[in-house]
Amino acid sequence: MIALSNSSPISRLGLPIHGAANPGITPGVTTPGSFALKNDVGGPLMFASPDTPGMPAPSSKTAWDFLPEGWSVAQLPPLDTSAPRHLDTSSKPCTNCVGDKNVVVFATAKGEVLRLIYPGNFKPITQLESARLGIVTPQMKRVAEREPHFDTLFPGQGAVAVRDEIAAGRLVIPANINHLQHKLDPMAIGRASKTKVNANMGASPVSSGTDEEVEKLKWAEKWGADTVMDLSTGGDLDACRDAILRNSTVPIGTVPIYSMIIGKKIEDLDWPTIESSLHHQAKQGVDYFTIHAGVRRAHLKYVKNRLIGIVSRGGSLLAKWMLVHNQENIMYTRWEEICDILRQYDVTFSIGDGLRPGGLADATDDAQLAELETLGELTERAWRKGVQVMIEGPGHVPFDQIEYNAKIQRTLCHGAPFYVLGPLVTDMFPGYDHITSCIGATSMAYHGAAMLCYVTPKEHLGLPKKDDVKQGCIAYKIAAHAADIALGIPGTRDRDDELTKARAALNWEKHFELSFDPDTARAYHDEDLDVDTDFCAMCGHDWCSVRISKEIQEFASGKADGFERMGGADGDKPGAPKKSAALTAEQQEILAKRGVLSPDEIHKLASKTKKALNVHVGEKATCHSDYVDPDAAKSLIEQKAGREVLVPLDVRPALGIAKEDRVV
Ligand code: SF4
Repeated sequence: MIALSNSSPISRLGLPIHGAANPGITPGVTTPGSFALKNDVGGPLMFASPDTPGMPAPSSKTAWDFLPEGWSVAQLPPLDTSAPRHLDTSSKPCTNCVGDKNVVVFATAKGEVLRLIYPGNFKPITQLESARLGIVTPQMKRVAEREPHFDTLFPGQGAVAVRDEIAAGRLVIPANINHLQHKLDPMAIGRASKTKVNANMGASPVSSGTDEEVEKLKWAEKWGADTVMDLSTGGDLDACRDAILRNSTVPIGTVPIYSMIIGKKIEDLDWPTIESSLHHQAKQGVDYFTIHAGVRRAHLKYVKNRLIGIVSRGGSLLAKWMLVHNQENIMYTRWEEICDILRQYDVTFSIGDGLRPGGLADATDDAQLAELETLGELTERAWRKGVQVMIEGPGHVPFDQIEYNAKIQRTLCHGAPFYVLGPLVTDMFPGYDHITSCIGATSMAYHGAAMLCYVTPKEHLGLPKKDDVKQGCIAYKIAAHAADIALGIPGTRDRDDELTKARAALNWEKHFELSFDPDTARAYHDEDLDVDTDFCAMCGHDWCSVRISKEIQEFASGKADGFERMGGADGDKPGAPKKSAALTAEQQEILAKRGVLSPDEIHKLASKTKKALNVHVGEKATCHSDYVDPDAAKSLIEQKAGREVLVPLDVRPALGIAKEDRVV
């Protein structure tokens, strides 16, 4: 027998605490906080996992190292606390004319003082350009309002911290100046902010249309999508995109090459078509473009031995274009001109990973890494043009390779936000790829990804329908939220802690109110027991450990102030059971979709049996449970099974429910 020690196991065993904040503010909780690194918002690590040995270090460069020609930045000595405030007020930069150049001096949220020299006639358009000039835009203020942890880390300076991350290229606000005229509510993507989720949708040549896509957009927003990509390849692409942009509160992304080649062969793609399509979509208000400029001719040799070649639509189309024309990727050679178009509307790049792996066996191979190096180069070139950048990532990656994938991107792309599709950690569960991929997505976000592109149960199989969109969104909200808690982002665990208190108090109403999908939670609970009481149908009264813990007076469990369940007929008796309200139509539909039979269906089945057994109207068949002796039924089952069979415990007496009551 092991002798018990008086010291606490945590102090004796030592936990790998690296200084990250506790993600929850509930006082006195027993867990000591996150095992992630101490936050470095304003620095290269932002919120980060500790490196497994062998991982590449973050880049020492940022977007400040890739300013346009004629610009320069210098760090001045730290501000004296008695220094004039105007140097500390970035929204009103102190600007002086120096010949044909302007000079602006401003303090960052961390207190560093920067002096920027830039051309005298320059007018900022993009969020990146404003940030470089020390300007805090209304969109940056809105982001700080939506993500209060910036203010927690830099009291009174949340929006300034957002601006600093944008200036460093580690955060983007995809907000096309034309989409801001509609309903867009600005948000940010970057590892200093909370993990975001993108939902893909779009009509295909064989399924869906504009109305259905707008409905899916609203549905995706309801289920927490932070951005939506319209990947339509069929129907009226232009009308569909326009309708989505007018109706969305979230940023909209597209892959413009799809509309460039509708009705043509990829071989016919030329610069005038690219130029006019980009202008057209940017004018419509698209917030970010996926452009597969990183697939280069020299990379194609690495694809030859892959199990599944190129799985990105844009990547495969451009590979074919290069082979037909025997030329370098036109998106790569025209990159600076493309940047100029995006800058005019502040469209953000989501630089596409055309060579992403399409199966575990192709992950982290030469093709993928060669392209990633080019994505780093394209990032530097876009920053020099003042355009905001995020980088797309894989795809299908074995679990052990995920950290490396996130960290090599951070090195090669200097901390530009990483936007990953999944990744799936196994390939053999079609129909369940929202699960296989949300496992990979959680890990990828913990190790550095800033936005997760959802995968629905229809992935690899067909175009997602409404419920697939919901399932995909929820799987990815779980992944994103789990990563944020693990990274120690202040405040991210607060709602979990509140829900735990409600659960401990067996306060069902509060439990459901705090849950992400209250309708499903309520419907599942009431399916078995439509009474809110001190247990649920999972274990029953006698076996309910939560109820037993709540009863132990020395435990705090279930005793948090304001969480006691009120019951009784008038809902004012502490702890009394309460019959829950009837399920709403939506909640009933949730149960119906699970395959639970409606009373009508049960009667239909019963009438079939009656017919087969020749039972007259108003009578019950001889096999009806009313006529069956329980002991005889039990011995019959045992005879059939050839062994003793456990039968479900009848919990009705414990509930004080009459024997004939069919609630349980
Ligand atoms: S009955 Fe079981 S599942 Fe239900 S609340 Fe109690 S412990 Fe939890």
